[in-house]
Amino acid sequence: MTDCLFCKIAAGDIPAQVVHRTDTTLAFRDINPAAPVHVLVIPFAHYPDLPALAQADAPLAGQVLATAAEVAKAEGLTAEGYRVIFNTGRHAGQEVRHVHAHVLGGAPLGPLLAR
Ligand code: AMP
Ligand code: ZN
Repeated sequence: MTDCLFCKIAAGDIPAQVVHRTDTTLAFRDINPAAPVHVLVIPFAHYPDLPALAQADAPLAGQVLATAAEVAKAEGLTAEGYRVIFNTGRHAGQEVRHVHAHVLGGAPLGPLLAR
């Protein structure tokens, strides 16, 4: 996708603080962190959201999850725990239409939803 921010990051055309990379996935720090550790995990391939990815390529969806777990371990989050979020669609406030997992941790994260 030519007009996709995360495709541009995946291609190296826009800089990002990359923390982990596999053949199929990339992990980089969120530019506006919501927790002490806030990393985004994307597949290099463009899918707009989780259902599109899961339907088209379930193994790749699994690789995104495996990378999220690897990142959490590398960031030292395993002992105290962390949260993985896929915002999907309008009600979730998804801003970037290239599927991404948020990996959040490093401090107590509070309730699941802001009220
Ligand atoms: P979402 O609302 O789930 O679509 O999340 C998009 C996330 O991308 C937000 O947390 C933004 O802070 C983050 N973001 C936007 N632009 C960049 C960028 N250039 N580098 C890293 N993270 C970004
Ligand atoms: Zn994209």
